Order: sequence, then structure tokens, then C-alpha cells
Amino acid sequence: MKAISEPVQDFIVTAYSVSSLQKRDGQWVISDGTTKYSADRVISTIPLQHLLPSLDSVPSEVQNACDALRYNSLISVCIGFKGSAPPLSWVYIPDAATGDFNRISFPSNYSDAVAPEGHASVLAEITYNEGDPISRLTDDEILDDTIRSLRQMGVIPEDGTIAHGSVYRSKFAYVVYDLDYLENIGIVRSWLSEQGIDLVGRFSEFEYLNMDGCIQSAFSYMERHS
Ligand SMILES: Cc1cc2nc3c(=O)[nH]c(=O)nc-3n(C[C@H](O)[C@H](O)[C@H](O)COP(=O)(O)OP(=O)(O)OC[C@H]3O[C@@H](n4cnc5c(N)ncnc54)[C@H](O)[C@@H]3O)c2cc1C
Repeated sequence: MKAISEPVQDFIVTAYSVSSLQKRDGQWVISDGTTKYSADRVISTIPLQHLLPSLDSVPSEVQNACDALRYNSLISVCIGFKGSAPPLSWVYIPDAATGDFNRISFPSNYSDAVAPEGHASVLAEITYNEGDPISRLTDDEILDDTIRSLRQMGVIPEDGTIAHGSVYRSKFAYVVYDLDYLENIGIVRSWLSEQGIDLVGRFSEFEYLNMDGCIQSAFSYMERHS
């Protein structure tokens, strides 16, 4: 990313949460409520669910279509423990009886730099939807449940002292393609296109793009528009 951003580094603004995007006299005025920028073009890479509230007069049909787009949220449970990780990259765990997580991976097997000597790390991923039983668990409950399950599986040894435990929630994690997806995304995209806003990225295009897919999408966008 550093190599890609290097030629335009001076034009990049970070730590800026867009709250309003308005067209004024042919120019876009972008604001975070404090600082304003003017631009002749908008390419949005933020989730549609964040983009629409920043725009004026979104038709109800477009808002309803956006609200109907389905996604899964994710809790990442990051654990460091004394001992070693199994010689694996990642493991999918479809059995709910084993624990709430559907996948575990071992960052310390990828690099010596992510765990101190004599320690290992495991990342457990738990998908959820707002309002479901998992979403109502506290971070401490999630951490305790995960550590208990990983010990039962033998991933964390019984004598493996826990050196680190943290929980992160990502609201927009996985795009869900339901039967109404094509109709709903079509309504949102065509209205945004009429406004002159282009979409690039996973939750902006609302497509299940991994990192390589996002970069490919950005390059394809540039080829189409240069
Ligand atoms: C838990 C998890 C694991 C994943 N694992 C892999 C993997 O192993 N391999 C892989 O290839 N891909 C993986 N992915 C997918 C990968 O992370 C995404 O494809 C990629 O990050 C999407 O890039 P993006 O630029 O479209 O969006 P993001 O990286 O999501 O960037 C969007 C940015 O917009 C910001 N934003 C939102 N609202 C506003 C606003 N109002 N104003 C300003 N900024 C805003 C957000 O803070 C965020 O920084 C994973 C994703 C998740 C959630």
C-alpha cells in the first residue's frame, strides 16, 4: 500500500470521518462536521451504509434497498499464550458444539515478530448479527468462552498461561448474497451513479472482495477512467 500511495501521498487525508457529501455548483463539498474539502470527483470506498447517511435527499426506495442488503459482522478474539501453536495456518470449525468460532488461525506461525520467545498466538473469528445471542455477550464473556473452548480442543495447553487477550468487533465483515441482493444492489448503485459517485472496494461495491480483489478492482477502475 505504501508503494501504491507514494505518488499521491501529499493529497491523502487520514483520521477524517466523512459525515456530509453535498453537490454545490458542480463541486462536491466533503465535510466531517469541522473541516471541508472541495472536489470535482468522488470515488467512495466506505460502506454504503455510511455513505448514504452523508448524502442529501436519498429517495426512500434507495434507502430501503440499502437497508435490505445483508452482511455478517465479526468478532475477532486475539489470544497470546505461553507454549507453542499447532503446526497449522488456519482451521475451519463448522461444529457449534466446539465453540462459537467458525475459524481459528495462528499468526505466530506466520512471523516470529508477532509473539515473544516461548509464546504463541491464536486468532478466533466469531460471526454474528446485531441482536443475536452472540452480539449480546460482553467482551469478557466472549474471551472466557473462547479460551475455555480452545483449551478443550487442546489448542491452548492446560498449562499454557494466557499472556494476552483482546476482542475486536467489525460491523461490516462479510457480504451476504441473498435472493434479493441483485435487485437491491442494482437500485443503490444506479442511483449513486446518477449522482456521479463511483464505488470501489468491498463494502462500497458491496461485493465479497478479498484484499487482492479490492486492489484489482481499483486498478480496473483506473483503467476504465484514464
Ligand atoms: C476479519 C476479516 C478477515 C479478513 N481476512 C482476509 C484475508 O485473510 N485475506 C484477504 O485477502 N482479505 C481478508 N479480508 C477482507 C479484506 O479485509 C477486505 O477485502 C479489504 O480490507 C477491503 O478493503 P476496502 O478498502 O474495500 O475496505 P476497508 O479496508 O474496510 O476500508 C474501508 C475504510 O473506510 C473507513 N470508513 C468507514 N466509514 C467512513 C467514513 N464515514 N469516513 C471516512 N472513512 C470511513 C473505515 O474505517 C475503513 O478504514 C478480511 C476481512 C475481515 C473483516
